Amino acid sequence: MNRIEFEKSRTDPILSLGFETDIDVLRLDLIHPVISGNKWFKLKKYLEDAQMQRKSIILTFGGAFSNHIAATAAAANLYGLKSIGIIRGEKPEQYSHTLTEALRSGMELFFVSRESYREKKIPEILSEKYHSGQLYMINEGGYGEWGARGAMDILAETDTSRYTHIVSAVGTGTTLAGLVRSCNSGQQVAGISVMKNNFSLSHEINELLPAEKKEHFKLEQAYHFGGYAKYTSELISFMNEWFRQTGIPSDFVYTGKLFYAVRNMIREKKIPPASRVLVIHSGGLQGNLSLPNGTLIF
Ligand SMILES: *Cc1c(COP(=O)(O)O)cnc(C)c1O
Repeated sequence: MNRIEFEKSRTDPILSLGFETDIDVLRLDLIHPVISGNKWFKLKKYLEDAQMQRKSIILTFGGAFSNHIAATAAAANLYGLKSIGIIRGEKPEQYSHTLTEALRSGMELFFVSRESYREKKIPEILSEKYHSGQLYMINEGGYGEWGARGAMDILAETDTSRYTHIVSAVGTGTTLAGLVRSCNSGQQVAGISVMKNNFSLSHEINELLPAEKKEHFKLEQAYHFGGYAKYTSELISFMNEWFRQTGIPSDFVYTGKLFYAVRNMIREKKIPPASRVLVIHSGGLQGNLSLPNGTLIF
């Protein structure tokens, strides 16, 4: 088997905010510079499955700024597998940092119109070049059973049994499903959705849960700041302030919204005083490179 070395994550206690509530941050952002945070956990079981099935090419889908694309390219590379990214929209004149990173890891990129992207069709040139038996497909964002199973290992990074609440940012909900599956029955799991009006999210998470764990989570839908990858000056000031107070960097797509939500939920006593909260830092810091220079102080 591959020996793949990752840094250990660690839990940072937040003491500086003056809350009675005890908050720890599980620093999954520290495990790897590209395959940061939850992406590694979501991908590893897919990659093992691909190897078991003797597939040589990982194929997945994403937008030009997708952390999932950059992470899949790097992770497939570590496993000695080729990777292909089907990217939504026209080929840009200048590649985003994410796409540049994906290319550097050897990913082959195919740009498709928004319509064919929606149908998740495999472009014809691709089916001429490779035969379908070589390809192993991973859903957009890594959504699916293997993703959720991999994410179950997140709570095994350290002893997490003492926490009353576990809070994480949510895109597809695959990570949250893994957290729900692996938490104790007494622990509450809350997900902060970073998308606006994602009405099917709860259903999609439940699809990844066994009967006895269905609905064992709460979704917060009020912290999207305008929608996926949207931000306001309030969010940016909060992220800078949070870094000043805690030394923890966050990204504007996921974890900035997550920490903002946690602070509000504690202030509003949605998370009651004397709770012990574990906040999952799911990584994503590379996304900040698409912000104008000087926006963030870290
Ligand atoms: C992709 C991503 C998420 C969302 O994970 P899902 O499993 O799709 O819900 C959360 N945080 C960061 C930093 C991400 O890159």
